[in-house]
Amino acid sequence: MPKHEVPIPKRLRIGAVVVNVAWGGEVDDDCVENQRYGHFGGSRRGRKRIALDSRQDDDHFSCTFIHEVLEAISSVWTGGDIPHSTLCTMSEGLHQAFEQMGVRFVKGDRKG
Ligand SMILES: [Zn+2]
Repeated sequence: MPKHEVPIPKRLRIGAVVVNVAWGGEVDDDCVENQRYGHFGGSRRGRKRIALDSRQDDDHFSCTFIHEVLEAISSVWTGGDIPHSTLCTMSEGLHQAFEQMGVRFVKGDRKG
């Protein structure tokens, strides 16, 4: 059981770009439809968004969040030049390190 559950915020600033973070409802449906656990890309309003399937278990959800943050960093800072296999390796490794330290990223409070 992780000792430190860090609530995922609604927004993250990566470089100069504000990225919304969303899960649940139609975001979950979209993930299932596209057979993915998460996604970084444009939202319908033309903003950048990290979408996460909230039906994953907590362990996997945290790993997916880390992965999509790396996707966003790659997009903002390198124009997406980092190979996807590298992003996968880095997110798995970071997730493993965080879990050992008792740190897990969890669904935050959506209100307020
Ligand atoms: Zn990916």
